[in-house]
Amino acid sequence: MTLLTRLEFDQALFQIPSSTRIQKDLSLSRMNTWRTGGPAWAVAEPKTENELHQLLTIAKQTKMPVAVLGWGSNVWIPDEGFPGLVIRTKSFEIETQWQGHKLIAGSGVGSTRLIREASDRGMQGFECIVGVPGSLGGMVMMNAGTHLGEIGALVQEVRVLDFSGGSVSARTLTPQKQDWYYRGNTFLSPSCIVTQAKLELSQGDPEVIRANLKDLLERRKKTQPIDAPSCGSTYRNPEGTEQKAWQLIDGAGLRGYRVGGAQVSEKHSNFLINTGEATSRDLLALMQHIEAQVDLKFGIKLVREVRPLRTVLPVVGSQVW
Ligand SMILES: Cc1cc2nc3c(=O)[nH]c(=O)nc-3n(C[C@H](O)[C@H](O)[C@H](O)COP(=O)(O)OP(=O)(O)OC[C@H]3O[C@@H](n4cnc5c(N)ncnc54)[C@H](O)[C@@H]3O)c2cc1C
Repeated sequence: MTLLTRLEFDQALFQIPSSTRIQKDLSLSRMNTWRTGGPAWAVAEPKTENELHQLLTIAKQTKMPVAVLGWGSNVWIPDEGFPGLVIRTKSFEIETQWQGHKLIAGSGVGSTRLIREASDRGMQGFECIVGVPGSLGGMVMMNAGTHLGEIGALVQEVRVLDFSGGSVSARTLTPQKQDWYYRGNTFLSPSCIVTQAKLELSQGDPEVIRANLKDLLERRKKTQPIDAPSCGSTYRNPEGTEQKAWQLIDGAGLRGYRVGGAQVSEKHSNFLINTGEATSRDLLALMQHIEAQVDLKFGIKLVREVRPLRTVLPVVGSQVW
């Protein structure tokens, strides 16, 4: 595969209609909750499916490397940044539509807004994403959830733009129960960008729902370092053992352990925080140290929940994950 030079990339950018917001040489550290990572050659923030379709068609024709970013609350971005176009969904399709108990929302809509809209209508179901910062697209991709359940259980349909074929095509997928797993799914191929999802909630008592949400948020504030830059839980809880990931990290004596500006949180050992000056390299080195120590002490291989910035059109280069 031939890679675009920077000059060719900049020339290809000119083909993107001026209605789509494009910013060049933008640091990605401001676009993720770890607050690390280098610049992208360009960041685009399409607002509609039509804009995104045009953007992907041009990217495909001109062979631009493309990565997709939601709210950046579960991604690790290299210090070298991304040599290509990052599509950020923050401004994407922010309208929501209700059909009885069903909610149709664009992939850029955030969890807080979804929860508020549903609770205002007395709809329950979103208790499982309370305190989970993210966009609907990112949450569907990750099958985000808590001990109360996962978003996949609510999803009826997912609309995507898929550019695996000769052209970019819109498709509506109807995932089944078995298509979801703990923090992931099997039905979204790497060439798909989620544009919309339809979710089914159920009627509840607005007062009870509100009280429940408040309780859940307070519990998280007490147990998680939500004021420090992090990506939430770094590791999945391992299968086949009663021990949670944080207990294994704790058991390996790593609570508070630091590499450069990256630290295992004193409050919750599965949270790795940026104490101020961390680089992505520090975070990666800390993860590698934790994994080696937990394996040495318990013979368990921790699996990362955090993901590298997802490249949806091919790129070769600084992917060090
Ligand atoms: C303080 C804190 C607490 C957290 N607690 C939880 C928790 O309890 N449970 C939990 O599950 N998670 C938790 N997380 C992690 C995070 O909130 C979720 O994983 C969330 O779903 C990420 O959404 P996002 O929009 O930020 O996705 P991003 O981080 O931007 O992206 C995540 C992945 O999805 C891909 N992606 C994003 N949008 C799209 C799209 N439209 N189409 C295709 N691919 C896409 C990205 O390329 C990337 O690979 C926590 C994070 C923080 C910072």
